[in-house]
This record gives sequence, C-alpha cells and structure tokens, in this order.
Amino acid sequence: MDRKSPKNGQSTGINTRLAHGPYDPAGQFGFVNPPVFHASTVLFADTATLKSRSRAPYSYGLSGTPTTRALEDALNELEGSAGTILLPSGLAAVTFPLLAFLGSGDHCLVVDSVYPPTRRFCDTVLKRMGVEVTYFDPAEAGAIAGILKPNSRAILLEAPGSNTFEMIDVAALTTVARAAGVVTMMDNTWATPLFFRPLDHGVDLSIHALTKYPGGHSDMMLGSVSATAETYGRLRETQMMIGVNAAPDDTYLCLRGLKTMGVRLARHEASALEVANWLESREDVLHVLHPALPSFEGHELWKRQFSGASGLFSFVLRDGDAAGAARFLDALRLFGLGFSWGGHESLAVPVDLSDRVVAKAPSGGAVIRLQIGLEDVPDLVADLERGFAAYHGG
Ligand SMILES: *Cc1c(COP(=O)(O)O)cnc(C)c1O
Repeated sequence: MDRKSPKNGQSTGINTRLAHGPYDPAGQFGFVNPPVFHASTVLFADTATLKSRSRAPYSYGLSGTPTTRALEDALNELEGSAGTILLPSGLAAVTFPLLAFLGSGDHCLVVDSVYPPTRRFCDTVLKRMGVEVTYFDPAEAGAIAGILKPNSRAILLEAPGSNTFEMIDVAALTTVARAAGVVTMMDNTWATPLFFRPLDHGVDLSIHALTKYPGGHSDMMLGSVSATAETYGRLRETQMMIGVNAAPDDTYLCLRGLKTMGVRLARHEASALEVANWLESREDVLHVLHPALPSFEGHELWKRQFSGASGLFSFVLRDGDAAGAARFLDALRLFGLGFSWGGHESLAVPVDLSDRVVAKAPSGGAVIRLQIGLEDVPDLVADLERGFAAYHGG
C-alpha cells in the first residue's frame, strides 16, 4: 500500500490534508515534522553544477529552502495557486505585489475599507513612485468599470473589509478587471483559504497575513502571496530582485500552525457567532458587524461566496463616544487590548474609521473590534458584561 496516497488525494477532507503533509516522513528518517533549514550558502559538487545552478532545486538561502518550499506547497494546495512567495510580514505581502505590478504613470484602485497600513503605503510609497491611487466604496464594487482608466493596472481588494467587514461580489469585479487586463489582488486574511479561495473567483493574487490564523499563537510574523500561473513569474522574479524571503523558524511555526488551523477556526467561528448573537440582543448595541449574521448588510454576499466566518468582528455602541468605549475596554480582564488577531487569546480594540475617504462609517456611537479566541464563551461574555457595566457607570 502506498502510505502517501491519502495525503495528496484531493478526495480527503480539509483537516486530513492539513494534518498530513505536504512533506513525507519517510524522506526525513521517519520523523513526523520536517527539519528546519537555517541556510545561506549551498555547496555545489563542481564548477559545472555551480554554473547550472538555476536548474538545481536549491542554490542559495534567499531563493528558498526545503522549509520555505514546504510552506509554499501547503499554501498552493490550500489556495489552488500555481506558486506562492513568502514574506516576513502580512503587510509586506500586501505591499509587495503592488511594487511588483505597478510603475510610474500607472493607476491603481484600492477598496476604501482596506487595512489602514496598506492605505499608508499607497498614500506615501506608491505616490512617490508616481502611481495614482483611487479608493472605491466597497458598496460600489459592482460599478468598477466606471472608474477604470486606460492606465489602470491593478485593483486591490479586501473582503470582508478591515474593521467594518463590508463584502464585495468578487467574481463580478474580477470579470470586469480581466476583460480590461487589470491585475487583481485580494487580502484574504480574514477568511483564510479554508473559508474563501480568491483564485476560484477570478482573483490573480491571494494575499495572507500568516501572522493571524495560520500562525495562530501570537508568536510569529509572516505573509504570503499565492498567484496564478500568469502572474507567478513576475512575482517570484521581483522577490528575488528585491531580496526578501521568510525566516526559517517563523516558517516552521506557520507549518505547525496549519496542522490545527481547521479545528481552531471551527472553534473561533462558533464562539464568535455565539458572542455576536449575544451582543445583537443587547439594547446598548446598535449594530453587530459580522458577515454571518442575517442582519448584516453584506450577509447575502458572504453566504453566497464564503464557506465560513472567522473569529473577528466589530460592534457599534448605540450612543457611546470614544470615552465610553475606553471605559468599556479598560474594564475587560480576559480580552487583551492589542493589535493583530488570529491567536488563541481574545482581543479588543477601539476602531478609528477617520481614514476612510468614500465608504460610509456605520451609524451610531463608537465602534469596538473583537477577536474571539479559544477561551470558554461564558467567561468571555462575563468579561464583556464587565465592560458594559463600566461603560454605563461612567
Ligand atoms: C494584520 C493584517 C495585515 C498585516 O499583517 P502583519 O503580519 O501584522 O504585517 C494585513 N492585512 C490584514 C487584513 C490584516 O488584518
């Protein structure tokens, strides 16, 4: 019997595929997990081999090791992509394809509900490069054809949007982009490839902050860009020209995180929905911005395109201002106050939407974002009740 066959068969379930591979224990003395290669120099047997190194599987630490290759392979399988590059952070994974595909005189469209540091990059570095950026309202994504210009080269999507979770009809947008020869890139961090596969919806490049659910334990930073066959060559070449790749230990931690990502996400999803429903039932909460809630504006779009929801969402206080939100946040004991998400622990942050240029902020008071971790839900609800008590008491 071929002991390897279940690993590579697409017929197996997602958790089976996450638990096995993409490496083969028989090729590493039977050890279950792969070795971590710390490497710069690769030695060649002779001058002829050295000169033909572009055909060798590995030729220098920067261009990849068996460790980085294993993670690239795993992500290619999850995303359905032709090739994946790794970068030292999620933000680098967003900015990198913009650098690779845009140049002076080009026009780029960016969704207005984008991750705020992505906007800072567009407004500074891209602008200095001579790239013109237009932010579009995610609600107007269906009318993208009307804002394309002859020099439009790229569209950057993020769905759900950062902090407010606006949805987009991705396939409708990429159909227009493809017809116009415009490259589409999507920050897919919230959904992970388990709940959404951008390339299946016509997107060219799927971007992840692996720092979040793939890593899953708030202890590493990494990003990835997974590409179609048409876009991969340019992406990889640019990566090697700029000279950036992922560090071995962070890559290993991400490979380890992937093993449990399916079961962790199932728990994040269920607990977040439970907390979201509880928040929705409260008088002092005006909206819960969670794509899986039927009350959410983008719910139908989410349901049609996504196969699940992760553990990050926001809620809007009925009439609390920033000081009220601060009283709420300062009273929390289990929820940590801090950025990033996707780890085992719950987090809360106040949301600032003042950078939006066209998308409308939700009506009501202050917005608070929650990452629901792996703790027991009754404990999380008790903590949020402490927050509400402090908010009302101020
Ligand atoms: C966190 C995040 C990033 C950046 O990832 P880092 O690894 O923290 O740099 C990019 N996009 C989205 C949507 C994120 O939430």
